[in-house]
Formats: sequence, structure tokens, C-alpha cells
Amino acid sequence: MAINNFLEADLEGKKVLARFDFNVPIKDGEIQDTTRIDFAMPTINALLEKNISKLIMMSHLGRPKGEIKKKLSLEPIARYIAEKLGVEVYLSETSTDAGIKTLLNLGHIKLILLENLRFNPEETKGDNEFARTLSTYGDVYINDAFGVSHRKHSSVFHITQYFSQKDRFSGLLLANEIKALDKLLNFPDKPFVCLIGGAKVEDKIKTIERLLIKADKLLIGGAMAYPFLKAKGIKVGKSLCSPKDVDLAKSLIARDKGKKIHLPIDHIVSESIESEASIIDNKNIDDALSGFDIGPKTIASYSEIINSAKTIFWNGPMGLFEIDQFSKGTNSIAEMLANSDAFTVVGGGDSVNAINKSGYSEKVSHISTGGGASLEYIENGTLPAIQNLKYNH
Ligand code: AMP
Repeated sequence: MAINNFLEADLEGKKVLARFDFNVPIKDGEIQDTTRIDFAMPTINALLEKNISKLIMMSHLGRPKGEIKKKLSLEPIARYIAEKLGVEVYLSETSTDAGIKTLLNLGHIKLILLENLRFNPEETKGDNEFARTLSTYGDVYINDAFGVSHRKHSSVFHITQYFSQKDRFSGLLLANEIKALDKLLNFPDKPFVCLIGGAKVEDKIKTIERLLIKADKLLIGGAMAYPFLKAKGIKVGKSLCSPKDVDLAKSLIARDKGKKIHLPIDHIVSESIESEASIIDNKNIDDALSGFDIGPKTIASYSEIINSAKTIFWNGPMGLFEIDQFSKGTNSIAEMLANSDAFTVVGGGDSVNAINKSGYSEKVSHISTGGGASLEYIENGTLPAIQNLKYNH
């Protein structure tokens, strides 16, 4: 199964319909973090160099739940792209309004941005007719929206059926994500070490199951660690730890025949988020206290394992890193990854925020733009919308 690379295609004079993930944080009409748009620029620039007739860009923003919400208009995004490229960007009224056909027929217009796809309830429901209408805007289709490719939404999943196999392509961002994640899953240089943190075992159970097969070592941190510790009879005090997560952790420990799972051996604790933090020098946490970060001995032992790794995957913070006094574990891991010679992949969400905050993002091999999407890719080795781009050759 293969996916077409648009760089090799003759797209001269074509109308190119491309789905991006421009779902950026916006406050008072100002974009707070442009990373997602910046990551799409290589594809946009490469297309413009190909002498296409028009680029029709699509994206969602936030969760308008099928209603037009001015606050979630793509207007600031149109402005940002126009400024960046020095080319005017025409924003449509809705993603299917009659004016789009007029814009498509105006010769001098190069860049069109369709208004927020999720203003139409059909987008998230997955609707063939909506997808077909969108498809009529382009001669060819490109998916560069990795962050939503695990969803069966109209603009990434249903739309592909309206383009012949030779007319659907992956964008450069999507291709890079696939390359990095396939390397992890199919031919990682060994030892392959995974760090999994975050809030709940339940959210990441399927990913952990898969990594237990693929990886050589699994280092657990964050609130995720307490159900594992409790399952082993260790006291976790008032730390986040649901009975369901303890059951899931028990089943994972039972399956871990290769003793791949590593757990924290000390903790940063406090009575509450606001109270002063202290170190507990062993695994057990007193009844009155909660664990909010991994301790220094754990950092040192994880560091040793990370230093000998040749491939590293990281998803989820090692503690409540949003609060300074509980951020050391997460920041230390970010620093270790940055200084490692291994092939390093940081998978989405809070771990990406943490690595950006620490200033080390340039030093990791690959930062995934999709948290949920990268975890689902690891679980299944593909994603629904990516599968739809593929063909037998
Ligand atoms: P996730 O989305 O599952 O990766 O979870 C990320 C969230 O888990 C972040 O908001 C962290 O602050 C939170 N978190 C990580 N460790 C802890 C902890 N020990 N106690 C409470 N929250 C935590």
C-alpha cells in the first residue's frame, strides 16, 4: 500500500483542495501560538512553487458544535497566512456557501481559506454529501491534517472517495509523521525506550499494551504511575488513582513478562497543590499526602536508561508540570531527550508543551502535532484517514 507524494506530481494549473490542522489557540482575535500553521507552511510553499491555479485550504478551529460562532472564525488565520506569504488570502463565508464557486472562477485569486469546517454539523458527524460538496472545489486533494486523521470526519475520511487514486496525496507534515512513527513501530534502533506519563492509565491503555510488545523498556511517570504502584501493594496516599486504573495496571503488570515496566522509586509530594512540596525518599506515600512529581532518585535512574537508548518515544508529563514546584521531573526528561543522540519522538499534547517551554524543541528528532492521533497510530499502525489515502500499486 502506498500514498502519493504531491512533490512528484504535475499539478500545474490545478485547483488543489488541502485539509490542514490550523486549530491554534486564539484569544481576543490574536493567535497565541502559531506552531500548527507554521508546520503547514512547507506544504503550502511547495504547492505554490508548483504553479497550481488555486490552493483551497480547509481546517477546523475549536468546537463550535455545528453552529456559526464568530469567536471561532478562521479570520485571524487567513490574516496570518497572508502576512507570512505576502499573498492575499480570501476567506469564504462558510465552508459550503455559494460564493466559493465565484472565488474559484476568479483568475487572480490564488489562496482561498474555507471558513471553519465545524460550523457545519456534518463535518464531525461524517457525512458523504458534505464531503462530496467540499470535493467539488478541487481537482486534487491533499491531507496534511495529521492531528485529526484518527477521526472519521467528512473532510479527512469521507472526502477521499470522491478523488481517484492518482488525485489524492499526503502533505509534507503528514508524510513526516508517518515516517517517524513507522520507524518507531517497525524498525527502531535498540534499545527502544518509551516514557509514558500523564493523568490516567485508562486513556493510554491500548498504547501501553502495544508498546509493551514493541519497546525494550517502559518508564512510567505522572499520575499514571500511582495505579501501578498501588497494584504492587505500595502506598500512594491521596495521589490520583482510580480503582479502574488500578485494575488496568494490574493486568499490564501481569502481562509484563520481560519486566519492561519501570516505576518511580521516590516522589515529590505535598498535602495539596498549594502547600509546600517535599521529597519522599522511598516508594510509599503517607496517607495525608499526594504525589505530584517523580523524585530525584527516579530522575537519576530514568536518566541512566535514557542515556543508553537508541530510540525514545515520550508521551505525557512526569508530574503536575503546570505548577513550578512539580515541574522538575518533566523538565529533566525534556532536557535528557534534547541531549540524547537517540532518535527521539515526542508525541503530542502536554509533552510537546513541556518541551516547547523548556526551549529544547529544536533538539528532538520529531515532534508530533497530534496527541490523540499519534497514540492511535502507535496502537493500530495506521489511522482511518491515512488508510483512505492509500492504494495498492
Ligand atoms: P494527559 O493528558 O493524560 O497526558 O495528562 C496530562 C495532565 O496530567 C497534566 O495536566 C498534568 O498536570 C497531569 N498530571 C501529571 N502528573 C500528575 C500528578 N502526579 N498529579 C496530578 N496531575 C498530574
